[in-house]
Amino acid sequence: MKTSTFALTNKMLIAGPCSAEDYSQIRSIAEGIAEFKVDYFRAGVWKPRTRPSEFEGVGVEALSWLKEIQKEFSLKVCTEVATPNHVEQCLSYGIDALWIGARTTTNPFSVQDIAEALRGEKIPIFVKNPLNPDLKLWIGAIERLKRVGIENVYAVHRGFSLADNGNYRQTPLWQIPIELKRIFPDLNIICDPSHIAGKRELVESLSQTAMNLGLDGLMIEVHHNPKEAKTDSKQQLSIEEFKSLVKNLIISKTEENILPEKINILRKEIDDIDNKLIELLSERMEVSDKIAQIKKESNLSVLQMNRWNKLLSDRMEYSKTKGLSEVFTKEIFELIHEESIRLQDEIIKTI
Ligand code: PEP
Ligand code: MN
Repeated sequence: MKTSTFALTNKMLIAGPCSAEDYSQIRSIAEGIAEFKVDYFRAGVWKPRTRPSEFEGVGVEALSWLKEIQKEFSLKVCTEVATPNHVEQCLSYGIDALWIGARTTTNPFSVQDIAEALRGEKIPIFVKNPLNPDLKLWIGAIERLKRVGIENVYAVHRGFSLADNGNYRQTPLWQIPIELKRIFPDLNIICDPSHIAGKRELVESLSQTAMNLGLDGLMIEVHHNPKEAKTDSKQQLSIEEFKSLVKNLIISKTEENILPEKINILRKEIDDIDNKLIELLSERMEVSDKIAQIKKESNLSVLQMNRWNKLLSDRMEYSKTKGLSEVFTKEIFELIHEESIRLQDEIIKTI
């Protein structure tokens, strides 16, 4: 019987170590989390590493350990595949589900090769987002699997690699999985907070955010002795931390038809403000067009760096007094400025 309140929800829960290191390691972890009856026990068997000298997983031998876990704890097991050979080995061992890692999703040739090896199979496949924030590439990988007949394809949001990831290992960019859900409402999207976080202190809060946004489940890295883990030691949760995370999670309702009337009134206010914002933006672009005409007549360049520097710092300064974050203001004004420059450039080019 499922014991956690999380297990009573319709959310999916996948947990287990980053890598299968030896049999006693995965057994201790499976035993430690057994009470949660997770949907899948995860463990990487072939690990994509940045440097060849790093631990690259034990390979096929670990598939037999996963079989033992499957039998002893009646748990479904899953692992990462990156080549058709990995797929064949997993199928022959009866692994219950597979995931395609972020580095592999980035390469359509690899995804297609994996898809061919899966043609006609029934096994569920989890597709992590590509490292770069390219929604189409993620969708493409999902489509390649659907086309070979995989019915249960899940998307996994594991963060994106940006030049500056701030406090995260990989930036969440929640807007991307939200857009994926908007386009494919029936696609189940789960979150892997461990690879977003890169450090265990952030995993619980990211998991709660994923639930608050209505994502369909979580894949969390758990280790019986995280500090000694051969891979991703900083982000794996101890068994106790995992238990407390799952027990503390609040799963909110996503139904849109039971909203309190007060929300509808406030939403009307938001709609009006948004319309005003659009009108103001349009007015701003018109002024920018007038400036473009003058720049053209005076043979001045579109980009005036001193003006742009001053504008940005003034707006950030002012927005702080209005309680807005600097990152937010910077992004908004970079977008506005980019559009303004694009329009001015078009005007200057027209004869
Ligand atoms: C993993 O889940 O261990 C892993 C390597 O994931 P990703 O492909 O998201 O980096
Ligand atoms: Mn990992």
